[in-house]
Amino acid sequence: MKSSHLLRNIPSVSDLLESPPLKGLVERISHNVVVEGARSVLDDLRQELQQKAGDMPVPAVGELAERIARKILRDERPVLRPVINATGVILHTGLGRAPLAEQAVDDVVVNSRDYCSLEFDLASSARSHRTLAVQHLLTQLTGAEAALVVNNNAAATLLVLTSLADGRHVIVSRGQLVEIGGSYRLPEIMAASGALLREVGTTNKTHPRDYQGAIDESTAALMRVHTSNYRVMGFASDVSIQSLVAIGREHRLLVIDDIGSGALLDVNQFGFSQEPLARASIEAGADVAMFSGDKLLGGPQCGIILGRRELIEKMSRHPLARAVRVGKMTLAALSATLKLYRDPDTARRFIPVLQLLSTPVDNLKNRAERLAPQLNACAAIGEARAMEDVAFLGGGSLPTQQLPTWCIALTPQTATVEQLAKSLRTAEAPVVGRIRQNQLLLDLRTVFPRQDQQLVQTIRALSD
Ligand SMILES: *Cc1c(COP(=O)(O)O)cnc(C)c1O
Repeated sequence: MKSSHLLRNIPSVSDLLESPPLKGLVERISHNVVVEGARSVLDDLRQELQQKAGDMPVPAVGELAERIARKILRDERPVLRPVINATGVILHTGLGRAPLAEQAVDDVVVNSRDYCSLEFDLASSARSHRTLAVQHLLTQLTGAEAALVVNNNAAATLLVLTSLADGRHVIVSRGQLVEIGGSYRLPEIMAASGALLREVGTTNKTHPRDYQGAIDESTAALMRVHTSNYRVMGFASDVSIQSLVAIGREHRLLVIDDIGSGALLDVNQFGFSQEPLARASIEAGADVAMFSGDKLLGGPQCGIILGRRELIEKMSRHPLARAVRVGKMTLAALSATLKLYRDPDTARRFIPVLQLLSTPVDNLKNRAERLAPQLNACAAIGEARAMEDVAFLGGGSLPTQQLPTWCIALTPQTATVEQLAKSLRTAEAPVVGRIRQNQLLLDLRTVFPRQDQQLVQTIRALSD
């Protein structure tokens, strides 16, 4: 048959809308969305029929309606969806870094559904400052005089440098000019801030005399940056924050400490070394310290600035502070998370990042050994085996930030390992693992026990 005849046989949109699957969707979603979806599938079909003139029958109304319904449902899925993180990377930037504690989630929900006391003192009806409540918690937990919360640590660094060092030099060791996750590079943030970077020392060694020798009348501050995702090891040395503070005091210069993760409790108890504590930076005498809220702290994305009162006040008054301020959902989540830290045991029990870090490796082993036979029995899986491995704190694979873990190593039945990984990523409840040596590893260090059965169900639902 000629394609023009075939085209005439294509059902009309109004016929299709009468079919049960689309009728249901009109009620559930909306008339416009279903019409739009039907038109788009029909357009594709017309093109296909013209290209393959005669080699292809026109699908029946029922089949076409099903196809349209599947497309609409696919498009209706929210942009952000919950994922089972089986990568073993605890602070996975691609997967949203820290999951929030239930208490934080609840406070976000109630305060965003209704109006809330964001900048309003209920006792006096006066206008208050939006970060007041968290400021109090932050100073209590860290010993800092004052605190400020902004959109993320990049914004914190920008605000600190712009408001305290614009047009003047900030001295940084060459070993600490970090790049984080591609788009954050300290020299670029510094350039954008208007402060001038003065590099000292070498990649592997920087001495106190290097800072001292670089100080002149144009110097505003000495800055230390935590090397979150790499270490300079071997013939290496850097200057401690204590020594930097001593030099700063001697020359009446500010000392700024970008501690990156900024743990509020000592995570070195979980087997890491050299993860800086926010409190330690303040105790050492840093004038300003900043860190992310969604890394080791385990809260929402935000940047926390701690420091001396007059400096924090100066920063708060800068116009940039307004441009990088946080919203009510962030503040609700942050204050609920910080409250949990008032008792370290409560923090370990309820903050998901700390739960994952502190899970004993034997628990992971037991779960892996229980899950492996269940996965072995799934049609898509050739072999599933429990195995020991290492998990990571962040995207970089720093030896000082690795944790023992147990995985389930999957070998597909007939598909390739890439196809298996893709089927899991694109499943209704997506699972992301890591591929190694032709196996898909599902790392239990980052899977919550409540997700174990969902994991099994997702794999069971795959066809081989
Ligand atoms: C992660 C990190 C940043 C960037 O923080 P964001 O909250 O992602 O903006 C800056 N400096 C250091 C040392 C970091 O580790």
